[in-house]
Amino acid sequence: MTADFLGKFAVFGNPISHSKSPAIHRAFAAQIAKTIDYQAICPPADFKTAVANFIQAGGVGLNVTVPFKEAAYTLCDQLDPSAQQAGAVNTIKIENGKLLGYNTDGSGLVWDICQHQKHFLAQKKLIIIGAGGAVRGILPAILAKSPQCVVIANRTLARAQQLAADFHHDSCSITALALEDLPTLAGFDVLINATTLSLEGKMPPLVAHILAADALVVDLVYAATATPTQQWAQSIGRRSIDGSGMLVAQAASAFAIWTGFRVDCGAVLSQFREGLLV
Ligand code: NAP
Repeated sequence: MTADFLGKFAVFGNPISHSKSPAIHRAFAAQIAKTIDYQAICPPADFKTAVANFIQAGGVGLNVTVPFKEAAYTLCDQLDPSAQQAGAVNTIKIENGKLLGYNTDGSGLVWDICQHQKHFLAQKKLIIIGAGGAVRGILPAILAKSPQCVVIANRTLARAQQLAADFHHDSCSITALALEDLPTLAGFDVLINATTLSLEGKMPPLVAHILAADALVVDLVYAATATPTQQWAQSIGRRSIDGSGMLVAQAASAFAIWTGFRVDCGAVLSQFREGLLV
């Protein structure tokens, strides 16, 4: 093993063969002239045993994706506030035999919206469509940017209501709505599509007046071409981004947690968008 080798890492998920995380982390390592062993693993046994086996084999850091983020939260010995607030873990650092859990999804999304797109969230009106694990992961980082209000609209209203209750905030109103109520809303500065609808080539029931004139539309799904929600945004003259910036930035945060190195996220995101990361 050389001094330039960063160690053994992996992403655990199911399905996982499509994962771009190994290529992204190899690109980060290359940027700082180091090497990394980063595998995509679909755990054959139960999650806990699979993690134990990975550590036994020399693993020092893990990313965790669907459907294991809640299991990872339960398994960790210590939780960073990002994971504590989200109730889910997407990054584990193994330190002195202990599992330290983090959630970097929210900081990844906020990096893309605020630093990369220069679209600031303070005192802005946000609408999030969807109320699944991804929304739970991003809400703490979004609320830390002090928006004026957050509306969570979801097909299953009870899940949106649960999130609104769990993330109750003194200085930002968080309300829950059913998807049928979307046409009654107007003037939002940021719309985040956090449903899986894009994966089926569909979009939520959106009407143009839901957006302010300079609104940003974000689809958490990343795709080679614009998602239906992005196409809709473009058709009414609004800016839109997909989830690739969030994906690369959450990975960069994990990389920094494990290695201490802060990489140039924008450079790797450009490589990702150009299809250069395989
Ligand atoms: P999830 O927990 O399965 O939640 C899925 C959400 O989509 C729920 O709100 C669900 O509504 C809604 N939905 C599914 N089918 C629907 C339909 N036919 N009509 C209306 N709503 C529907 O998934 P997740 O983990 O939150 O992930 C959500 C999306 O974010 C995924 O596409 C994932 O790829 C993406 N994501 C991207 C990143 C990134 O780094 N870019 C990170 C995390 C997630 P119900 O509650 O009613 O079922």
